[in-house]
Amino acid sequence: MSEKGVFQKIIDGEIPAERVYEDEEYLAFKDIAPKAPVHFLVISKKHSPRLDEMLDAEGPEAVGGLMAAAVRTARHNGLTDYRLVINVGPGAGQEVFHTHVHILAGREKPLPVS
Ligand code: 5GP
Repeated sequence: MSEKGVFQKIIDGEIPAERVYEDEEYLAFKDIAPKAPVHFLVISKKHSPRLDEMLDAEGPEAVGGLMAAAVRTARHNGLTDYRLVINVGPGAGQEVFHTHVHILAGREKPLPVS
């Protein structure tokens, strides 16, 4: 079995992260190197490396569920205006292979991630 990834370690509480939303299926926490005044990451507790693989393995409900969790995270933290970014694959800047949604806010035009 491959080595546990950094986001799985956060889920398991093995490395610290500032949690901003959590339910049975999803977890959101602050990005360690924020690219905007507000920068959260939203993940499913069920691991899939990339969004396209999530779609193939788990279907559109999983993709929609992750997006819904991002909106719930934003609302839970009082955000009304924000940008959602998903990097799919290394060529697009994906560095952590546990599918995640970036929530960026607090700047008039948040910079793209990566
Ligand atoms: P990606 O480039 O894969 O779309 O985004 C990965 C994000 O994870 C980056 O913005 C990076 O700063 C963040 N990140 C990487 N390692 C950690 C960590 O250990 N803790 C937290 N909170 N964020 C991390």
